[in-house]
Amino acid sequence: MTALVIAEHDHASIKPATLNTVTAALACGGDVHILVAGANAAEAAKAAAQIAGVSKVIAADSASLAENLAENVAAQVLAIAGNYSHILFPSTANGKNVAPRVAAKLDVAQISDITKVDSPDTFERPIYAGNAIATVQSTDATKVITVRTTGFDAAAATGGSATVETAEGVADSGKSAFVGREVTKSDRPELTAAKIIVSGGRALGSAEKFTEVMTPLADKLNAGLGASRAAVDAGYAPNDWQVGQTGKIVAPQLYIAAGISGAIQHLAGMKDSKVIVAINKDEEAPIFSVADYGLVADLFTAVPELVKAL
Ligand SMILES: Cc1cc2nc3c(=O)[nH]c(=O)nc-3n(C[C@H](O)[C@H](O)[C@H](O)COP(=O)(O)OP(=O)(O)OC[C@H]3O[C@@H](n4cnc5c(N)ncnc54)[C@H](O)[C@@H]3O)c2cc1C
Repeated sequence: MTALVIAEHDHASIKPATLNTVTAALACGGDVHILVAGANAAEAAKAAAQIAGVSKVIAADSASLAENLAENVAAQVLAIAGNYSHILFPSTANGKNVAPRVAAKLDVAQISDITKVDSPDTFERPIYAGNAIATVQSTDATKVITVRTTGFDAAAATGGSATVETAEGVADSGKSAFVGREVTKSDRPELTAAKIIVSGGRALGSAEKFTEVMTPLADKLNAGLGASRAAVDAGYAPNDWQVGQTGKIVAPQLYIAAGISGAIQHLAGMKDSKVIVAINKDEEAPIFSVADYGLVADLFTAVPELVKAL
């Protein structure tokens, strides 16, 4: 029994989501290999070989893999899929783009967003926006799995000494072509990797107020900035800041929610945070049910006071 983890990487380094996925793969009980499918990605393969618990890295290098096109990456996975009992992807935008293609081609049911491995064929996954946990058993010969990274600790990035084997890179599928990429540039930590997140809700009232009140707090704490969907929909914060069921799933060390009511769809994205602080002027707000520290206060006075105190 051997599990294959599909690495999330930028060709030079391995992204943290890979480390949590390795932990899930190790819980499946057998050897763990990592596929680094990229272009000129020797550095990423070298980094993957350092991950504790990994016994082999398969480095597939091809120009067709330079832009992470899902069609080509899926073909690369399928080229070696026959060797594996489990194929695991982080439940990121990339992983979720490739995994279903692999599962469909293998004619197996994808097991999505697992948070726990009970046994090599039985997994737990949240349903109904995290309000219930389903235990699912698969009889498929190959388990194609996406891993909710907040459900598993990160494997150590160093300390391993896996062998690196090269695999022939696939040819371009011709089904899609890379046109361009617009990347948001920010000095702030990326939301899913941030240790501290400061999130604002509808109560902020405008994009100007959101920036004026929340940014100084995020700056003080070197935190990532998040938002509720209501704040995003109202244009107070950009789309990629949305935390929740239809946004990002985060589990930082500290999550500060200001003016966020705590709808289940928001809680679904942040309730696994280690410490939750809620600031809300309504003492009945549901966010207080998950908060470790709650402050019933007007955020427009409480947040600046907090910034001053820090
Ligand atoms: C299918 C679906 C998916 C969804 N996905 C998401 C998702 O991914 N993420 C998400 O966040 N939501 C999501 N939602 C929306 C969710 O149901 C809520 O509508 C949303 O989270 C509410 O955002 P909010 O808490 O900012 O606003 P509100 O619910 O309006 O809450 C504002 C809060 O601010 C407090 N407040 C007001 N003024 C102040 C003040 N001056 N100081 C302090 N507190 C104040 C109020 O007491 C209130 O609790 C989804 C909904 C659906 C149906």
